[in-house]
Amino acid sequence: MSLAAKAQARWAISLAGVVQGVGLRPLLYRLAGEHGLSGWARNEAAGVRVEVQGKKEDLTAFVEALRSEAPPGAAIREVEIREAPLSPGERGFHLVESGPGERPRSSLPPDSAPCEACIREMESPGERRSRYPFTNCAHCGPRYTIVLGLPYDRARTTLKGFPLCAACAREHGDPADRRFHAQPIACPACGPRLAALAPDGRELATGEAALAIAAFALGRGEVCAALGVGGFQLLADATSADAIALLRRRKARAEKPFAVMFPSLESLRAACAVSAAEEEALGSQAAPIVLVRRTGARLVAAGVAPGSPWIGAMLPSTPMHRLLLSGAARPLVCTSGNLSTEPLCTSVEEGLSRLQGLADVFLVHDRPVARPVDDSVARVGPTGLQLLRRARGYVPGAIPRREAAPVVLALGAHLKSTVALAAGHEVLVSQHLGDLDSPLATALLERTALDLLRFLDARPDVIACDLHPEYASTRLAERLSARFGVPIERVQHHHAHVAAGMAEHDLEGPVLGLAWDGIGHGTDGVLWGGEALRCEGARARRTAHLRPFPLPGGEVAIREPRRAAAGLLHAMLGAGFAERVSGFFGAEELRVLRAMLDRRVNTPLTTSVGRLFDAIAALAGVRLKCTFEGQAAMELEALADDAGDVEPYPFPLSGDEALIADWEPLVRGVLDDRAGGAPASVVSARLHASLASLAGSIAERAEVASVVLSGGCFQNLRLATSTRATLERRGFTVYTPARFPPNDGGISLGQACIAARRRQGS
Ligand code: ZN
Ligand code: ZN
Ligand code: FE
Repeated sequence: MSLAAKAQARWAISLAGVVQGVGLRPLLYRLAGEHGLSGWARNEAAGVRVEVQGKKEDLTAFVEALRSEAPPGAAIREVEIREAPLSPGERGFHLVESGPGERPRSSLPPDSAPCEACIREMESPGERRSRYPFTNCAHCGPRYTIVLGLPYDRARTTLKGFPLCAACAREHGDPADRRFHAQPIACPACGPRLAALAPDGRELATGEAALAIAAFALGRGEVCAALGVGGFQLLADATSADAIALLRRRKARAEKPFAVMFPSLESLRAACAVSAAEEEALGSQAAPIVLVRRTGARLVAAGVAPGSPWIGAMLPSTPMHRLLLSGAARPLVCTSGNLSTEPLCTSVEEGLSRLQGLADVFLVHDRPVARPVDDSVARVGPTGLQLLRRARGYVPGAIPRREAAPVVLALGAHLKSTVALAAGHEVLVSQHLGDLDSPLATALLERTALDLLRFLDARPDVIACDLHPEYASTRLAERLSARFGVPIERVQHHHAHVAAGMAEHDLEGPVLGLAWDGIGHGTDGVLWGGEALRCEGARARRTAHLRPFPLPGGEVAIREPRRAAAGLLHAMLGAGFAERVSGFFGAEELRVLRAMLDRRVNTPLTTSVGRLFDAIAALAGVRLKCTFEGQAAMELEALADDAGDVEPYPFPLSGDEALIADWEPLVRGVLDDRAGGAPASVVSARLHASLASLAGSIAERAEVASVVLSGGCFQNLRLATSTRATLERRGFTVYTPARFPPNDGGISLGQACIAARRRQGS
């Protein structure tokens, strides 16, 4: 042992990342004791600051232990160590309160499902918190949904109205306890409580009896509105066709799949085939909805996800859900507590008024929900977990960025909207806020934008939005730009899709971005959605796209695959199209459609791959009209499983500046297949193969090594998997969004990155 290692030293250590509210300081306290160090630790706005003093070898061991023993919810992104002057005579290690003047940052952790220790405690009859529905500790429990301001401590959470009892206060103050400084802790003596309410607001029962009433109602086939961690959910018996039909009728939701919460992994396995990776995701602290394959077992009624081989499955994500599910003793449909065009209800009053007529019983509590946060949706793809809806368990979760300036507030698109805020060295993306189809939804978008600004104590230098002039998000961007007196940056939709993928994988470019999507405003008046963009920094050049085809009715056609089919055939056959699609429309409908197509009235051109999918779904006899966005493509994807190996249809590329992919030979192939009696499954498999091979041809002419796949079409697992495989076989490195959705939920992130770079002139 060298003399230097034995010498006294003092280190000032700064920890950044997700380091607050995750039980890090109790660990620091314990480790300092174990290594005989003196000093202190304090939550600061930028993270956690620690000063430790002792022998150098002990200091080194302390930092090593800190890395290896960090609690599960923590993500220490940066450890900065500087020598500090010795503090002579210092004794012991202290945890110091955070100062109010600190400029807050986003190191706030997401909400977490209960940890093992809390579950054990709840399930132990003699314990103080036996069967207590709000049990949590420093490693688990609500976070983002209860926090009102930063730095994160109890007085700035929605638990501020619940003074700790003596026993809880002791745990909160004991550095050796797993509840040390756990801000949301509670117990039956001092914490929130459950109540069951009738639809008129009358209290039926509290505590255990409230749970029993809710479970009983569910067993009787009724609908229960339960106030979860981030707002109301509507629950119903997933094993009962009648209960599901009732919920569908009341929610006016004809066929869109519902998620199902299972009481346990065992019960989930009885209804679905679950891989190890899927089990890991289901049991993670984020506890998302995970798309898993249903098996033949009829445990869950077919009406949960009609026509789909997938079920959005989840496990109980809070102690309350654990208790309710074990009481109901069956899987429950679990869907957002809202009307289809409105955001989630978060308060009891709001729930009682806006969910009037939807629920038979309300299971509520008195812990206020600070902001609506829906359940997240994920799937396991070829590269691991991929988020399709990013909300509870993942937000706020910042991603780092290289340049600190400027501050950009980005307002996203129209569907699956989110807000992004780039400030300092990070970008925060809000939770999924839903489609902007109602004034309430737009109000939530604005509230969330202001919420993020307040969190980061930031003022925008620039506001970013889509090119679409009519999106509610664009209009809000214009209002905020005027209010803050800052410029607006309009970002092309598919460029934003690719930029989001680049941001997530920290790519500067050049990359080839394949943005295969529904529709978004192009720079040339065409509705884009089948684009290849060569992207570098903030720049994008369109290098290939589908041959444009007319889309009668424009955005209305999103719900009507038959219109896309009519558009394609009209472009190919002129007046002869009518004969081919006469079975898709009534005589009068067809007359109007023909006039629209002939005269180009309300008939924009599109290059969308999503609409091509729709058209083929119609031509293959799968579906003429949708009850929700993307339905036809989902059904087409599912069918392809039944086909064996198939040849792709021809999909030739021509042109030089921007390549044009001509779908006409493909459509002729589909018509021939159908005329020859080929089943829809074969048509579908060939379509998928054609697109994968098209991606390969486009990439080979792009002179880049990396390809980013983004846009709503890549939610299609078969398309994403086969396109990736084709590109990798040809030597390309392929990136797909994983922590952010490939759909429009990622648009705000892409907008923020492009706008920031444009302002910096790169
Ligand atoms: Zn816990
Ligand atoms: Zn208590
Ligand atoms: Fe999109």
